[in-house]
Amino acid sequence: MRVFKSMALWFDSGVTTEPVPKEEFWIIEWTRIVPLIIMHLAVIGVIWVGWSPVAVSVAVAMYFIRMFAITGIYHRYFSHRAFKTSRFMQFVFALLGASAVQRGPLWWAAHHRHHHRHSDEEEDVHSPHQHGFWWSHIGWITTRGAFPTDYKAIPDLVKFKELRFLDRADLLIPVLLAIGMFLFGVVLNAIWPALGTGGFQMLVWGFFISTVCLLHGTCTINSLAHLIGRRRYETTDDSRNSFLLALITMGEGWHNNHHMYPGVTRQGFYWWEIDVTYYILKSMSIVGLIWDLRPPPKAAFESAEAPAAAAPAEPPAIDLPSRVQPNAVA
Ligand SMILES: [Zn+2]
Ligand SMILES: [Zn+2]
Repeated sequence: MRVFKSMALWFDSGVTTEPVPKEEFWIIEWTRIVPLIIMHLAVIGVIWVGWSPVAVSVAVAMYFIRMFAITGIYHRYFSHRAFKTSRFMQFVFALLGASAVQRGPLWWAAHHRHHHRHSDEEEDVHSPHQHGFWWSHIGWITTRGAFPTDYKAIPDLVKFKELRFLDRADLLIPVLLAIGMFLFGVVLNAIWPALGTGGFQMLVWGFFISTVCLLHGTCTINSLAHLIGRRRYETTDDSRNSFLLALITMGEGWHNNHHMYPGVTRQGFYWWEIDVTYYILKSMSIVGLIWDLRPPPKAAFESAEAPAAAAPAEPPAIDLPSRVQPNAVA
C-alpha cells in the first residue's frame, strides 16, 4: 500500500505538505526516487544511440538555458524575490523552471529559504559540514523529509494557484519536454537525415544527459560552494566564492557574496566575478520583462572585511524570513 501511495506522489506531490516526523526524516524513499534513478540510468543509453554534433549541441544549449531557469528563476526570483515581474511572466518563468527537472517552484523556493535560515546548522538538510559531501550533494533529495513543500515558508508564492498546480504536478513539464525532444529528433531525421540524429539519440542527449549534468551542476552549490573557494565576508555559514563554480552555474559560484546579501539580484559584485545569470536578467530588465532589480548596497564594496556594518539598502518588499530578506545578513 505504501508503495502505491509513493507511486501516486510521482503524479501529485502536493498530497504531502505536512512536515515529516523527525525520526522518519532521513529515510530514503526508494519508490519515490525511481524517476531520478531512471534519469541517471538512461544516460547509459548513449552506448546504443551514439552521438552527432547536433545532438551534443542541443544538450549543451538545454543545459545552459535550464541552468538559467534554476539560477535566475527558481533561485533569484522565486526563492529571493530579487526582482519583480508580471504574473504572466511569473508563470512563463515557472514553466521554464519546471523544465529543469528539479521539482516544482514552490518546493525549490521553500527548501532554499530553509537553507538560508539554517545555513550549515544542524537543520540545514544539505550542509556538507553537517551531513558529509555526498549527502549534501544528492542524498538529501531522496529522503522522506525532503519531499513535502513547506507552504509556510513561501506565503508570497503559495497564493498563486497556477504555481501550486505546477508544484504538485512536478513531473508533467519534464515528461512533456522528454516527449518533445524525442519528436524533435524524429522530425530532424526525416527532413535532414545528413545530421545523423534521431528520436532516441536526441532524447538521450537533449533530455537525459543534459538534465543529469544540470542536476549535478546545480548540486555543486549545495556541496562544493560550502567547501571550496574564498570567503570575502564573515558570514555565519561556510559559504565561499569560486570562479570555477560560477562558470558551471552561470554566476551562482559567488556564494559567499550571496549568503551575505541574499536579496541582491547580482551575485558577482565585481566585473571579474562572471555572473551570466545577472547579464541575462539585466538584459530582460532593459526590454521591460522584469524590473526592480536589487543592487548590492554600498557597504558590500566598502567594508568587505566588516560586514556587520552592512545595512539594508532598502526595506524588503515582502515579509520574508530574515535570512532571505533582500540585503539581510545571512
Ligand atoms: Zn549556501
Ligand atoms: Zn540563495
